[in-house]
Amino acid sequence: MSVDLESYVRDAVREEASSSSVLHWNLGDYLNHWSPSSLTQFRRCPYQWQQVKIKGRKERPAEAPVTGTSVHVALSRNFEQKIESHEDMPMVELLEWFDDVGWPTTVQVEQAKTGQEIKWKLGPEASHRRGRAMLASYHEQVSPRIEPLATESRFETTEFGLSVPVIGYFDISQADVTVDVKTGRRKYTKAREDWRMQGGIYNFVEEKPVEFHSVSITDGGKVEVVTPLESEELIVSLSVLERQQISQRVRAISAEACLYMELYGPEIDWPMHGVDHSWACSYCGFRPTCPAWSSR
Ligand code: SF4
Repeated sequence: MSVDLESYVRDAVREEASSSSVLHWNLGDYLNHWSPSSLTQFRRCPYQWQQVKIKGRKERPAEAPVTGTSVHVALSRNFEQKIESHEDMPMVELLEWFDDVGWPTTVQVEQAKTGQEIKWKLGPEASHRRGRAMLASYHEQVSPRIEPLATESRFETTEFGLSVPVIGYFDISQADVTVDVKTGRRKYTKAREDWRMQGGIYNFVEEKPVEFHSVSITDGGKVEVVTPLESEELIVSLSVLERQQISQRVRAISAEACLYMELYGPEIDWPMHGVDHSWACSYCGFRPTCPAWSSR
């Protein structure tokens, strides 16, 4: 993209996003809603987003997200029953459920979604053990202080003034806070950039602070759990001004997507901003065929 085109895009998006009316919309053939993850994916790399949302390509499921999903599934199992019982499942029972149901079902579902084998790095047995270890640590250290009102609860909002709603799911809703659990290799003590966008949207919708809980496991198997009790920078709580800004940022992303459709249409490649991102390309399933990497 030339410098002139870049400034044209920036000015056009700014003008569109800051208007108070419903934004111009030309993605109706492809999109009936935005989600926080879709918005952050577009922010990271419009080309990657185009592959998924416009071209309908599916990324091969990767080991780390599948392992994370299995932990979420098991935590949801515990907190779902805790809404009524007010008691956590015994550790042994939860881990047995994870071994017999949670892990194998997650693997099956994730493979069925894309029709592709999971791309294992450490392998299914090691990943199973890693998920089990993260689940056990979180259940021991954090579950007792969670008082869930709902788990995996769906929200849908038109408050951003887009032509389609923003739809998402809260991991755990409590009376005074929303909790989102993040798993992975790396320990986080403050909300990552894309989490802040997600947390901002949750905060905007629920008007409650959002807590991120980082559950990490090193290659050597050491598990660490970090919550706002250990690091306050894992809380996202917006001021009135920040609420306006998050709204404007969501509108700007939507406007930018519409502008790229206008400029390039569905077939010509959209900008590959992932190459400027600190980690996007390293975890991208489209990298083997991405033009940005064709000559590297
Ligand atoms: S490899 Fe990088 S630039 Fe290419 S689609 Fe993936 S994130 Fe975007």
